[in-house]
Amino acid sequence: SASLREASFTVCLDTLLGGGVVALPTETVYGLACLALDEQAVQKVFELKGRPPTNPLIVHVLDSHQAEQVARVNSFAKLLCQKFWPGPLTLILPKRQMIPDRVTAGLDTVAVRSPSHPLFRKVLREAGQPIAAPSANLFSMVSSTTPQEVFDSFGEACPPILDGGKCNIGLESTVLDLTSDTPSILRPGPISKEELEEFLGFEISTSKKTTDSSVARKSPGLSAKHYSTETPIRLYENIYAIQQIERWTADDLIILPCKDLIAGFDSAPATIITFSATGNTREIAHNLYATLKKADQLEKKLIHLALLEETDGLAGAVNDRLTRASSS
Ligand code: AMP
Ligand code: MG
Repeated sequence: SASLREASFTVCLDTLLGGGVVALPTETVYGLACLALDEQAVQKVFELKGRPPTNPLIVHVLDSHQAEQVARVNSFAKLLCQKFWPGPLTLILPKRQMIPDRVTAGLDTVAVRSPSHPLFRKVLREAGQPIAAPSANLFSMVSSTTPQEVFDSFGEACPPILDGGKCNIGLESTVLDLTSDTPSILRPGPISKEELEEFLGFEISTSKKTTDSSVARKSPGLSAKHYSTETPIRLYENIYAIQQIERWTADDLIILPCKDLIAGFDSAPATIITFSATGNTREIAHNLYATLKKADQLEKKLIHLALLEETDGLAGAVNDRLTRASSS
């Protein structure tokens, strides 16, 4: 059980300051954290995750002042920090020399974000320096939103976990690149394109969902296969398309967005589970990864699920994850 790895605040802080790795809660997903300026600690994070060295890490800071230590924060970026930090917006900015190349995978840009989770902020305050943290899961697998999921991801190799309960948002931050001609969303997330555009007063672009190697290099998180379950996923355009399946077997698992829909499904002997009780997008995002992990534990042969209706930006971000989770 995860309780074996849950550690006190002091143990986690001492481990970090001693050059070690710990799992920390954020408002998005759990992070696998180390001191961002400690190259050897950063190397341990890559090894633990099995993350290719070409995939850069996000550097977490207390505020835009601390961001200045690792990145060049121009006045435009500062406006975004004032509006959206602390919160689930990661900015790609020109990097400063002191940040190890390993953190940025050799890029001359760095990803920075100021998390709002009170425990992560307390660690940042007491450590007094930036903390690098990718999601606390094995490379290309589903992110962790609870201490138990962190433990299940790493098993015996699991680092100490600071228990912050279940992550409030449950989906990774929006990544916004501020180093090209126009601001560009590299990863859709909890802060939507519309929200950013409304604040900025002009249109921004979204990086094409492509496996084009130059784009993949700029943001490795864009690689098609990501957020993977052990069980293969078949993705449908909508719920109606799932309902058209005529024969189900006991090896099929259907995941519906909400409980109300179950009644309309004549799918015996398939198993049905749901992402949420109400179908509210925030609730679906909150439960997304835990539900995918639960689906794996049921050990069926195939998971059937549909894209959400894109009623808001968060639904678009969930659909991005579902699309990658179903890609092999
Ligand atoms: P994760 O830590 O698993 O949430 O993933 C971090 C995300 O940030 C990935 O999508 C990376 O591609 C992205 N990222 C980190 N640093 C950079 C950078 N310098 N340029 C572009 N994307 C980055
Ligand atoms: Mg990740």
